[in-house]
Amino acid sequence: MKNGVDLHVHTNASDGSYEPEEVVRLATEAGLQAVAITDHDNTNGLARAMEAGARLGLEIIPGIELSADYKGIEVHILGYYIDPKAESLCDLLEIALRNREVRNRTIVEKLRQEGIDVSMEELRQRHPGTVLGRPHIGLLMMEKGYVESVKQSFREYMGKGAKCYVPKINMPMKRAISRILDAGGVPVLAHPFQYELNDPQLRELIELVKGMGCKGMECEYARYDEEQRQYLLDLAEEYGLIATAGSDYHGIPKPDILLGDIRGEYAQVEQLREAK
Ligand code: AMP
Ligand code: ZN
Ligand code: FE
Ligand code: FE
Repeated sequence: MKNGVDLHVHTNASDGSYEPEEVVRLATEAGLQAVAITDHDNTNGLARAMEAGARLGLEIIPGIELSADYKGIEVHILGYYIDPKAESLCDLLEIALRNREVRNRTIVEKLRQEGIDVSMEELRQRHPGTVLGRPHIGLLMMEKGYVESVKQSFREYMGKGAKCYVPKINMPMKRAISRILDAGGVPVLAHPFQYELNDPQLRELIELVKGMGCKGMECEYARYDEEQRQYLLDLAEEYGLIATAGSDYHGIPKPDILLGDIRGEYAQVEQLREAK
């Protein structure tokens, strides 16, 4: 019997390991009822995922994950039921892509100065049509034997504070949320514990994004324990936000997270649909 929904899943349209069809097949095998495809800064995998979903009888929710700036912190906003053709969203994604390109090139240059032989050409060849990010560079470093895991590539080279770290230029929060709304989508604050905010700070963020049109908050997340989830569920209820569940499945870059690890209630999908 099918059980549960996962509203935060990546494919190789961004930094997930697998093709959209493969991700949909894995989600079907895991017995999920519905899955949202939420690749970083692009919607390139959505059509294929939805086609595969129709074929395999799995409900696919079209989504996206945007990186927004909040007081210098990178905050992720999920957008559900967006129209991938919406012009103002496409314009925004084009700018995000250009910023990523510049940053990736800078990271690669810094790595080369450390004696690590990686190049943009190699990355593009390995991941055609993909929005490239640090995980792709980390994978390449791993395959070439410079590190043992993507995690190590972040810790020792590309993560914040490491020697080849390059900050990302993120779009203003207001713009991320409003372009999701313009595209007919439902904005949701992703993984709230990632931002290292204390309770009053998190409340401030929630109030801000809610005021900008955010309708939900990701409360059940693969890496959050029961206590953390309950704290977020209580906050969502207090602020009248839809509580969502997502694994942030990526495949190889996050090998400890599998599809089926998170199973939110189907009612979340209905709530998101109604919030459109
Ligand atoms: P980027 O978009 O290029 O800044 O890369 C961010 C992505 O890297 C996010 O999707 C994270 O899931 C992933 N990430 C961040 N930190 C780590 C880490 N320590 N190990 C593996 N992946 C990470
Ligand atoms: Zn990612
Ligand atoms: Fe994220
Ligand atoms: Fe994600």
